[in-house]
Amino acid sequence: MFKPSKRIMLSTPTMHGEEIKYVNEAFERNWIAPLGFNCDAFEEETVGYLNTADNKLYGLSLCSGTSALHLAVKLAGVRRGDIVLCSDMTFSATVNPVSYEGGVQVFVDSERETWNMDPEALEKAFKKYPQTKAVMLVHLYGTPSKMDEITEICKRHNAVLIEDAAEALSAEYKGKKMGTFGKYGIISFNGNKIITTSGGGMLLTKEQQDRNKAFFWATQAREKAPWYQHEEIGYNYRMSNVVAGIGRGQLLHLDKHRQLKENIYIRYKNGLKNLPVAMNPYLSCTLPNFWLSCITINKDCKVKFMDIYNKLNEANIESRPIWKPMHMQPVFKGHDYVQAENNSVGEDIFSRGLCLPSDIKMTEEEQNYVIEVIKSCF
Ligand SMILES: *Cc1c(COP(=O)(O)O)cnc(C)c1O
Repeated sequence: MFKPSKRIMLSTPTMHGEEIKYVNEAFERNWIAPLGFNCDAFEEETVGYLNTADNKLYGLSLCSGTSALHLAVKLAGVRRGDIVLCSDMTFSATVNPVSYEGGVQVFVDSERETWNMDPEALEKAFKKYPQTKAVMLVHLYGTPSKMDEITEICKRHNAVLIEDAAEALSAEYKGKKMGTFGKYGIISFNGNKIITTSGGGMLLTKEQQDRNKAFFWATQAREKAPWYQHEEIGYNYRMSNVVAGIGRGQLLHLDKHRQLKENIYIRYKNGLKNLPVAMNPYLSCTLPNFWLSCITINKDCKVKFMDIYNKLNEANIESRPIWKPMHMQPVFKGHDYVQAENNSVGEDIFSRGLCLPSDIKMTEEEQNYVIEVIKSCF
């Protein structure tokens, strides 16, 4: 049987060559500072990629997706004690920035068709918390949420929708790119994401003045004066002109990355079809970016996700459990959690789910090996 020569990884950076050209340009022009021509161009090119004809979009390149989320929470006007209804099954970075501003997270359960926020549970949460300030919505693993329902509910309840599209760059719902639905959207260029700047993020706004305000906060909240004048608390959140060059090169290959990720998903779907497992689901009106391919093991099955995790690890293959729901995290003990069904959907998916290697440099031979190792668990 084929044995891989190195560890098969979940998702690692893939560079192409254009990246270094833009980085070199920053060096040649001695523009190594934060801000600069690569940042400006990267924002313009990203917005150009995302833009739908029907609305204007502004981008602000930042040092991380998390800093973009923080600025989105500030722009939404979240203050001490304000309620923010948050996706429950996600990475903690989605919801931590609510705490930075003293807001209170109330977690909303997932539905089974996309694993994202359940509109029915969201409606229930609004009934309980009509004073809700904002909704923090994630598109998990690059799978779009039920946007028609969620945008309608947010609008009706007068809450600001923030879209955490950190994992979902290039994914679409009914032909519209994720990150462009909410009043504010964010994307991440962390090393494991579909494209990367080694570390970085971008805030997306619909209004120029929101982008200007976020820029002000991200550059130490320096007022317009010859001396250093400060009337608000600021942050140092800008992206460096060097790494923005990496992003410009990566953006040229984003659609190709998405296609390769989809091919990986399809190969898993076919390769695992006779086993008691299911792939992470998506709606037919959406185009996921298939950032990570995931499986859930059928409920009645004796094989547990940690059995597969351990077996893969022994075979030098990286896998990872599904994001552990936020309402189960000790740090959020005491926070309310709203679900539509009697049983928690998030807890159920977490108890049976596993993320599989989805690195676009993985060869077919390597992926077949992963599939064979999974089969050997049953
Ligand atoms: C990666 C990620 C973030 C954070 O992005 P960083 O750029 O790493 O700060 C936020 N939310 C989700 C869902 C993520 O996967």
